[in-house]
Amino acid sequence: MNYDHFFTDAIDALRKERRYRTFAQIERDASHFPRAVWHSPGGPRDIVVWCSNDYLGMGSHPDVVNAMCETARARGAGAGGTRNISGNSHEIVMLERELADLHGKEAGLVFTSGYISNATGISTIVKLIPDCVVISDELNHNSMIEGVRQGGRQKFIFRHNDLEHLEEILKTIGDRPKLIAFESVYSMDGDIAPIKEICDLAERYGAMTYLDEVHAVGMYGARGGGVAERDGVMDRVDVIEGTLGKAFGVIGGYITGKRAMIDAVRSYAPGFIFTTALPPAISAAATASVRHLKASQSEREGQRAQVTKTKAALAAAGLPQMDTPTHIIPVMVGDAKACKMASDLLLAEYGIYIQPINYPTVPRGTERLRITPTPFHDDALIAHLVQALSDVWERLELPYADRMAKESKSRRVALGPAPIPVPVAGG
Ligand code: PLP
Repeated sequence: MNYDHFFTDAIDALRKERRYRTFAQIERDASHFPRAVWHSPGGPRDIVVWCSNDYLGMGSHPDVVNAMCETARARGAGAGGTRNISGNSHEIVMLERELADLHGKEAGLVFTSGYISNATGISTIVKLIPDCVVISDELNHNSMIEGVRQGGRQKFIFRHNDLEHLEEILKTIGDRPKLIAFESVYSMDGDIAPIKEICDLAERYGAMTYLDEVHAVGMYGARGGGVAERDGVMDRVDVIEGTLGKAFGVIGGYITGKRAMIDAVRSYAPGFIFTTALPPAISAAATASVRHLKASQSEREGQRAQVTKTKAALAAAGLPQMDTPTHIIPVMVGDAKACKMASDLLLAEYGIYIQPINYPTVPRGTERLRITPTPFHDDALIAHLVQALSDVWERLELPYADRMAKESKSRRVALGPAPIPVPVAGG
């Protein structure tokens, strides 16, 4: 039997739909972030990365890098196994304390990624609550969807950030236990959930809340606790989940909450129990990053300033950015092929790396370039970016902001209001 064709057929299908992903080979330069070297087909080329989720450049921060190197030298590279087998490293215990404190919670639990923390966290929590119903925002990240699916409970999907729809669903569920799962910053549209209002509804209808702050930790709130900290509602959210791999610049994920909930997840979650722990060096680096961002405002202020300047420069050039209240700046292209071509041109001819965002990460017809300025994208880099984008828009005859606005208005009229999704039983 020849098995190869199953795989080549699957790849061909992706190519036909223009969904085949190619990854550029990029070597980040820790001493010149966000600069990097691209190993292009023609040899190494200097480039500037404009789409990193190392939002504050903490991956290159001396405190973080030193903590990692010193701890690796002292404790070795790995963790030595699962926590069941090898016990808790001192560094992971310190990290969990730091994270619980960051979110004002009784306890924290670290996983090997944000993805795992959502997938195994949500599924374990809902399995531990008999007859629990999950109510999940329609734009939740795949890791949350996976957590809901693995949890195997009845689920309802509410329209994105739509409080009326959420309340309608809460009313129909009645007295059963329920978990509302949502994010603070949605990473592809760069918008923010009404956390306070969702907590109001949760209290009124007796629901637990699970908030993914992956794209907000480190960046919002006086100590980098996320949007819930900024909005003064951290204490009203039952479970706050985050990553150590984006603004904190390292890798790993976590949940924080009440001690009993954390202890139960620790005791029952397969994605926690049956996998090697985060190594001490990684834990120490993450702790250094979290500690630094609790005290320092300069990275957050620097990032905000450069984001504001980038948005203003894009607007002045008439480029079709989505209006966001966050550090995420999606620039709309609206076509998969054009989006890939724009990204390729930027890289090959302007030394700018912005990876194309296509279906299924975003709906078809909303393909985009997602720009994430850091405090280290200085004014000269911003000017270069906007000039390069303007050239590419001209060369590929892409739609500018005014045309995009007209087209999206007529699309909305043609589609009418979105239908109310039907509840789906069993995850
Ligand atoms: N949650 C959201 C909203 C995300 O966007 C991501 C990753 O991009 C994750 C969770 C997963 O986090 P990690 O990259 O740490 O696995």
